[in-house]
Amino acid sequence: MFKFFGRNPFVLFYIVSGYILVFTLWWGYLLASKNEQAFTEKVELNRVAYEAQGNKMKYEDTDSYLKLYSKYERQKVMIVGEGAFFLILQVLGLLQVRSIFSKEIALAAQQRNFLHSITHELKSPLSSVKLSLETMLKRQLTPEQQGKLINNALGDVVRLEGLVDNILFAAKIERDTHGFANEEVNLSDIVELVAAKFRENKNRVSIRADVEEGIYYHTDQIGFTSVIINLIENAIKYSRPDTNVVVALRQADKSILLEVKDEGYGIPDAEKKKVFEKFYRIGSEDTRKTKGTGLGLFIVKRFVEIYKGKIELSDNTGGGSIFRLSFPV
Ligand code: ADP
Repeated sequence: MFKFFGRNPFVLFYIVSGYILVFTLWWGYLLASKNEQAFTEKVELNRVAYEAQGNKMKYEDTDSYLKLYSKYERQKVMIVGEGAFFLILQVLGLLQVRSIFSKEIALAAQQRNFLHSITHELKSPLSSVKLSLETMLKRQLTPEQQGKLINNALGDVVRLEGLVDNILFAAKIERDTHGFANEEVNLSDIVELVAAKFRENKNRVSIRADVEEGIYYHTDQIGFTSVIINLIENAIKYSRPDTNVVVALRQADKSILLEVKDEGYGIPDAEKKKVFEKFYRIGSEDTRKTKGTGLGLFIVKRFVEIYKGKIELSDNTGGGSIFRLSFPV
């Protein structure tokens, strides 16, 4: 039985909630009918006594009856009013418990996903570096072979470094939103540089930078670089080969606009908000082929918020996604 509840943890919650609500309504009904019964019995008793005294007037027209009736009405209003108030409180309480419960369940699932992916992400480059070093140690290699192995190992170390940077940055951005620098940064140079770096890595996707020159902004250089790296990395990761990624930076009237557009798999509407949550990745870990930790867009969103900017996620016409960031000037 507990296995069944374990599969859908809300079943037990709904049963208990239903029981509480039905129980409250039942008690409300019982109280109201007891009140009515008490009233009728009192009226009957009083009527018998009243008629025994030989009174001619109808008992229902006497002061005694009217007093009893108004007391009965007051009690009825009290039962209905307080009952309704109590019921509303119960429903609000249950809704709140449900919302906390679902958040906890989602967080637990995301943390499980995160642990699963982080272990994998750490393990595979480490094993690859280890293998390269062992090969160099055991075998006599030509300088070209050695160079190739060293380059591979370096690539893995850079990937590991990026992963650790992202984790540390996510922790920092969550803990301390005031610890960011406010220095004048040449955004155009950063965007060009990052795009060029990705191009150098011979991605299967073509990356074009459409950048207005000389755009400066007071921000945190490391943070901004991390934002642009995460956005371009995602655009590449979630795209088919031979498609285009365009990174644009321009100065508008009252803001600086950064846009990363891809022709990839796109993000369904139902997921558009969730992808910015910490550890959130679309789909389940089994069906997911791409590597990741679910921290990239969390970092992007928090960073934009710290600088009072806005972020917009929309569909690219003909497939793919567009991330539009604007920072106020
Ligand atoms: P990660 O890429 O490490 O999984 P992110 O926080 O960067 O984590 O992204 C969260 C999720 O949003 C990704 O797992 C992916 O499913 C989806 N996503 C992000 N960027 C894109 C994109 N450009 N196209 C399609 N899906 C994306």
